[in-house]
Amino acid sequence: KKYLKESSERKRLYNEVIELKGNIRVFCRCRPLNQDEITSGSSSVVEFDPSQDTELQITCSDSSKKHFKFDHVFGPQENQEAVFAQTSPVVTSVLDGFNVCIFAYGQTGTGKTFTMEGTSENRGVNYRTLEELFRISKERSDTMRYELCVSMLEVYNEKIRDLLVDDPNEHVKKLEIKQGAEGTQEVPGLVEARVYSTDEVWEQLKTGSRIRAVGSTNSNELSSRSHCLLRVTVKGESLVNGQRTRSQLWLVDLAGSERVGKTEVEGERLKESQFINKSLSALGDVISALASKTAHIPYRNSKLTHLLQSSLGGDCKTLMFVQISPSSADLGETLCSLNFASRVRGIEHGPARKQA
Ligand code: ADP
Repeated sequence: KKYLKESSERKRLYNEVIELKGNIRVFCRCRPLNQDEITSGSSSVVEFDPSQDTELQITCSDSSKKHFKFDHVFGPQENQEAVFAQTSPVVTSVLDGFNVCIFAYGQTGTGKTFTMEGTSENRGVNYRTLEELFRISKERSDTMRYELCVSMLEVYNEKIRDLLVDDPNEHVKKLEIKQGAEGTQEVPGLVEARVYSTDEVWEQLKTGSRIRAVGSTNSNELSSRSHCLLRVTVKGESLVNGQRTRSQLWLVDLAGSERVGKTEVEGERLKESQFINKSLSALGDVISALASKTAHIPYRNSKLTHLLQSSLGGDCKTLMFVQISPSSADLGETLCSLNFASRVRGIEHGPARKQA
């Protein structure tokens, strides 16, 4: 009884929040200037207002200012804990039966992988999410039993590759998206690993990253041109009334959003960048259609949005991190990313704030 009451209260509160704020959030994260940028004399073009955490201002090359507002803004000093503190309510709602999608969007080198994967000293959203899911499952173990499975895949040139296969050469096997029985999108043949602890998850994630690098001469180069997706499937069973839930959480490190230089636009690189542009704009179109509550949502325009179809829209939660560089050298790409994120969120950026 107590559990049912708590669970329905959680859902009621969650729906109330959705009513108030909508179920799409956009967070912006700016990395620190790196040593090379400092040495080469680049300066920071991004300004934060210490009195609030939803706005930032960019100084353009003609000294004009552009002002942007998001659901949350993280400056260069904000650490992984601070980022996860804002993210955790979104990810943990998967335990209450909601589907969730989290993306990191931005130019290569702006910290997408740092935010999602992190490093062994500074673990990112992926690891912290699993850690939190295990913690809450344990807390609720009197009334609920949860089963957690992870899959990891990559979308490169509109082809899906499994990143959790035992034999790295097997990852080239062809995977396709099929409509599942419950209207969900399934990928038959994709490895789904049951996980019992956070250590095990870390091992799985490392395996995935290793396999991701196979077959490329420069793994950083290749990884910036493919989308990497971690899927967490949560099956829940109530020990009170036997009710079952099944939900999915997708954690996505997107391909770099930068436009390719004119000199590079040929051959393989051209093909790759066309695939990336197509899938990133398809993602933008889907999210903005959802934000503006358009009747037709164009999921089928890319493998990425098709895969995520059952976790985008309806009462699903979506969170996008728009990652930016503070450097004056990246100004053009930074403005592109911020404009993309504003469009996705359906928020137009206003004129610069008046200086005090
Ligand atoms: P991307 O995935 O967007 O290509 P990376 O995550 O590889 O970018 O980040 C590029 C470099 O910047 C890495 O060395 C990373 O550790 C560092 N970096 C990114 N974001 C931060 C941050 N918030 N704080 C400190 N270092 C960061």
